[in-house]
Amino acid sequence: MKISSFIHIFGDRIWDALNKEFLKLSPEEVEYIKNNKEHLEDSNIPLHLIELGVVTTYDKEKEMFLKLKKLTTDTQFQSLYLITSTACNLNCDYCFYRSSASGSLHRRENMKFSVAKEALEQFKEITKNNIKGDDYWQQITFYGGEPLLNKELLYNVIPYSRHLFDSDTSLVINTNATLLDNNDIHLFKENSVEVQVSLDGDEEKHNLHRKTHLGEPTYKIVINNMKKLLDSGVKVLPMITATDDNLDNFSERIYKIVKELGIDDYAVNVLISNSFNSSDSYAEKLAEEMLKAYEKYGKIASDYAFVELYNRLIGEDKAISKNSCGATRKITVFPNGNIYACQAMEKLGVNNMGTLQNDYISNANWFEWRNRSRFDNNECLNCASVISCGGGCATGSYNCSQSICGIDKNNCEYTKHLFKKIHNV
Ligand code: SF4
Ligand code: SF4
Repeated sequence: MKISSFIHIFGDRIWDALNKEFLKLSPEEVEYIKNNKEHLEDSNIPLHLIELGVVTTYDKEKEMFLKLKKLTTDTQFQSLYLITSTACNLNCDYCFYRSSASGSLHRRENMKFSVAKEALEQFKEITKNNIKGDDYWQQITFYGGEPLLNKELLYNVIPYSRHLFDSDTSLVINTNATLLDNNDIHLFKENSVEVQVSLDGDEEKHNLHRKTHLGEPTYKIVINNMKKLLDSGVKVLPMITATDDNLDNFSERIYKIVKELGIDDYAVNVLISNSFNSSDSYAEKLAEEMLKAYEKYGKIASDYAFVELYNRLIGEDKAISKNSCGATRKITVFPNGNIYACQAMEKLGVNNMGTLQNDYISNANWFEWRNRSRFDNNECLNCASVISCGGGCATGSYNCSQSICGIDKNNCEYTKHLFKKIHNV
């Protein structure tokens, strides 16, 4: 017998990570847990603790980890990433494509319509028998580099995607919005494409990182184009990357963006670990600011992913988070027709699934990605947030430990700080 790994001691409070609640226990029971957490020798085990699952067996726990791993690992494909261009007109210093595991930007290659068409038709076939529960979603993302450098493709591939897939499949373009014109806005509006735009705060902070190759700033053009999109009725989502440079008063910066654009949602990107320098206080400061933004302005606008994580960490939402890394459910197609799990590590062998021309769905490398689970990782199994945390980004993990199965430091520290601040422990 043992004290369950899901049991955590915070002073005199006992947190049950599996059920996400502090347990109501007698002082004797608390004492018992404290004395036996590391090693349970006592044969005189309080029955109540066995009933609560606080005391369990090694076998039962192992079974539970296996069950949770299965529950949280997606096995059906529901997302297609088309890397429309590996070129970019900007030269942002924190871009994850700069890492040695990627190298994609150097090729500056545009996708041809024939490749995109083939990928879309295959995706249609692959997803046709998917199990579609209440929370099912399906998405096609036009990604880069900068997709607007390949307008010739976009004007063909977006209408074709809409022709193949009805409105249950979201179409999303991820862009820096610097090359946008009125025809593009019309294209997005006509085909219900959500436009996700990278924007890092006010003019000064945005221009620190998001510059052209000649070092020219981009803020003014980006914010004006976002307003044009919104005025035309296109759904726009600002993607705000948190760096040490914009974290001071980050919640206020977010609010300014929200106010200026008149929107009610946004997304904050935690820096992928080791893709760009971050200080030791980065994760804690970010957690503090995200909580502030939610508490002060959450009724006006919020980050959907944050709200979900918050509700889960606080224990209001008892759901078990699926793996947050999308790589087990998405097919990423590069301009040359090569298939990957994730767009960020083109050079990594285990990420390569073959090409559009062969049976990439059966590639054994998918199993490596599906094997990546926090329920196999000792640090996660001993973490109070293990049920709510999605386990972070595999690229972040690879950047830290040369393995996709390790810890994504930034995301991990951020989640742990959120937990501590929420529960005051
Ligand atoms: S490894 Fe990171 S960047 Fe790649 S799909 Fe997973 S979460 Fe996204
Ligand atoms: S990644 Fe970090 S925060 Fe998430 S479950 Fe693992 S140890 Fe906990």
